[in-house]
Amino acid sequence: MYEGAIQDLIDELGRLPGVGPKSAQRIAFHVLSADPADVTRLATALRRVKELVRFCTVCYNVAESEQCRVCRDPRRTEEVLCVVEEPKDVVAIERTGEFRGRYHVLGGAINPLEGVGPDNLRIRELLGRLGTGTVRELILATDPNTEGEATATYLALMVKPMGISVTRLASGLPVGGDLEYADEITLGRAFEGRRAV
Ligand SMILES: [Zn+2]
Repeated sequence: MYEGAIQDLIDELGRLPGVGPKSAQRIAFHVLSADPADVTRLATALRRVKELVRFCTVCYNVAESEQCRVCRDPRRTEEVLCVVEEPKDVVAIERTGEFRGRYHVLGGAINPLEGVGPDNLRIRELLGRLGTGTVRELILATDPNTEGEATATYLALMVKPMGISVTRLASGLPVGGDLEYADEITLGRAFEGRRAV
């Protein structure tokens, strides 16, 4: 289509999730006509995210130090642990302001069709955390879709024999959807109305 650098940029942008060929082209030409200082800031932000951001050694949320902000906060109870699929789910739940416990980020959900089994998720690490005996309630906040439900069922079976109360977010979340797309009020209510599994 185009030659050289502009086509390289369009190709790279087109590999990003949710960016189709038309959007890639539009963004590339926006970059081309943008103020050089703005483009430098964007390039720096891209580089810094790879240099600075890592995963929390406790919960696997994104962090800029050994531990994430939630794990470093001594005011949050360690007795309630909320299991989510991705760091973006932590952000969605934090927005509700309903939760004062800690998180565990699995890094995905069980999905046999895509070859993702329990061993590919941070389930061993979760069981290790639960083994210390501090956690009294485990909230399963995986996505309300097939993979999320399968993961929640699997975790409930593993964890209930440990004598820990296991709860799942209440219905009302859009079925088949993604936790991050639920609005704060719906997600907040789903938290309040969580039920034992
Ligand atoms: Zn953490």
